[in-house]
Amino acid sequence: MTTRREIKTETQKVPVIIREWTTCDFCGLAIKIGLYEVWEGQIVQMSGSCYPDSGSTSKYTIDFCQTCWTEKLLPWVVCHGLLPNPEESDW
Ligand SMILES: [Zn+2]
Repeated sequence: MTTRREIKTETQKVPVIIREWTTCDFCGLAIKIGLYEVWEGQIVQMSGSCYPDSGSTSKYTIDFCQTCWTEKLLPWVVCHGLLPNPEESDW
């Protein structure tokens, strides 16, 4: 004898993040890039202490879109006598 049991299931709505992006802290626009593109324009300040088994840090970041990085931050950096260190990779 086969016992059949009907189980009613309800479809659940589960939020799925297909893609997310960061917003530029300077102009407020979304920093959208292509699927295979890379863009990181960020100023990071981190401080604290780090021991072998514990630690405590604080981190502050400022994100820039490509336009603000190129047209606003870089000219400001350069006019203060600083030059970004170029680093390239190819694989
Ligand atoms: Zn921007």
